[in-house]
Amino acid sequence: TGVPQPQNEPVKEYRVGSPERKALQDALKAAKSEEQDLPMCINGKAVFGSNKVRVSPPHEHAHTLGYIHEGDASHVRQAIDAALQVRENWSSMPWEQRASIFLKAADLLAGPYRAKINAATMLGQSKNAYQAEIDSACEFIDFLRFNVHYMTEIYSQQPYSPPGVWNRLEYRALEGFVFALTPFNFTAIAGNLPTSAALMGNVVVWKPAYTQAYSAQVIMEVLQKSGLPDGVINLIYVDGPEAGEVIFQHPNFAGIHFTGSTGVFQTIWKSIGENISNYKTYPRIVGETGGKDYILVHNTADVTESVVAMIRGAFEYQGQKCSAASRAYVPASLWPAIKEQLQEELAKQTMGSVEDFSNLFNAVIDAKSFKKITSYIEKAKADGQTIVAGGNYSDEIGYFVEPTVIEVSDPKYQTMCDELFGPVLSVYVYDDAKLDEVVDLIDTTSPYALTGAILAKDRNVITELTTKLVNTAGNFYINDKPTGAVVGQQPFGGARASGTNDKAGSAVNLMRWVSMRTIKETL
Ligand code: NAD
Repeated sequence: TGVPQPQNEPVKEYRVGSPERKALQDALKAAKSEEQDLPMCINGKAVFGSNKVRVSPPHEHAHTLGYIHEGDASHVRQAIDAALQVRENWSSMPWEQRASIFLKAADLLAGPYRAKINAATMLGQSKNAYQAEIDSACEFIDFLRFNVHYMTEIYSQQPYSPPGVWNRLEYRALEGFVFALTPFNFTAIAGNLPTSAALMGNVVVWKPAYTQAYSAQVIMEVLQKSGLPDGVINLIYVDGPEAGEVIFQHPNFAGIHFTGSTGVFQTIWKSIGENISNYKTYPRIVGETGGKDYILVHNTADVTESVVAMIRGAFEYQGQKCSAASRAYVPASLWPAIKEQLQEELAKQTMGSVEDFSNLFNAVIDAKSFKKITSYIEKAKADGQTIVAGGNYSDEIGYFVEPTVIEVSDPKYQTMCDELFGPVLSVYVYDDAKLDEVVDLIDTTSPYALTGAILAKDRNVITELTTKLVNTAGNFYINDKPTGAVVGQQPFGGARASGTNDKAGSAVNLMRWVSMRTIKETL
């Protein structure tokens, strides 16, 4: 078919004096120089709702980036109608034509839009330059290019035909529209959920988290620039439950592509269940949800490697990656050395605005999140847990929470079980001789199974842990941090309460967005 074999987009480093650093700084300046309108986009047109919601950088309350123009149920209906109206055209378009639109979008993001989308992610979601680069540039570009590649693999799979018969499979879009409901924490995920379904011929209503609206606007702009026909992806800003009510009651609702919290996903699944007899077709339900990701350090592990895995795994992007480590199990024999290095390394790092590129840490996303995280920290202090590092916070200028390490006395202490979604790592120090107990704790302490990492040098231990922890993580890391999955290399998704494990950026995921017709022709 001639579709090029995709390669991962190289990560730019934004070194002092580099042209990419200059371009990014210019884009940040441009973005801050004017307040932007953030309208919905229905049938390719900007639509302004009646309510305005102010958007400001999580690290700088005083600055206004712009205003979301929030709509209501009537806009949800308009978006559904617009999608359904273009469905036949879009789904019957030759796949090469659809694919080239998304490949074009990838090229625009890799080139002329790279600085703009990274700046939007930095300011809107408080990601530092490097974290923005690996998200809104590289990962999003990779999703777009690898999905096209996986699509061609899917379409080429055809059944066996004995003599006298021609069996074939037709890969059709779902009959209806797909709802893409996306989280704040990755611009790449917000981009991937609507575009992967659309690539397979589906029409989409997309509702991003308001806290990601600023970069969502750039995604929509890039898609339009790439030639995406009007109505194929319709961006709405409507309160989640209000939008859900219209969507899940619609007879043409054909699937949801969701990433977000477990609680919201379960509410959605129930609504779909309640309406199940009203739909034309059983909806596809694909969701990547919460996590309580772990690091298990064995006493044969390297101390420095363990510390790097803990700091990078737990605190990059302020612990707001679904894959971020939030609980660690460290053997008593290594804890003094690990603790000392953790404290030393964290003390060297600074926290502040994304515009100062030397800050490794920035702000958490919003007031709700700030309140949740800091109340857990306060409770831990009051409960007599040991604050090993951090523990301070302030929301005066922005929502700043220091990277915090809590040594817990009880392996089932609250912060070892609940998803805080912030820069808090709870550590349980275990007796070296009781590794089996730790395996059991990892398995039973939380309902999630998203990511997990083990650090050990002993091959027998690695083998044993890999086997025994089989159900605890959809993405399992040996001698690495549990974050940083790369599209095409480590397909990403969790099991148990962490999601339907349909592996974003894989053929498995794309298969959920097709409905097959088998044709047997007697020759
Ligand atoms: P969230 O669940 O609060 O929101 C996700 C989306 O659902 C948003 O667009 C939100 O507005 C909408 N929403 C909220 N309540 C709704 C309702 N009742 N009906 C319909 N829509 C509703 O999640 P978030 O805070 O944006 O993201 C953080 C969560 O996402 C964490 O739990 C994290 O673990 C998870 N996450 C998981 C993965 C993964 O791959 N497993 C990846 C990224 C994030």
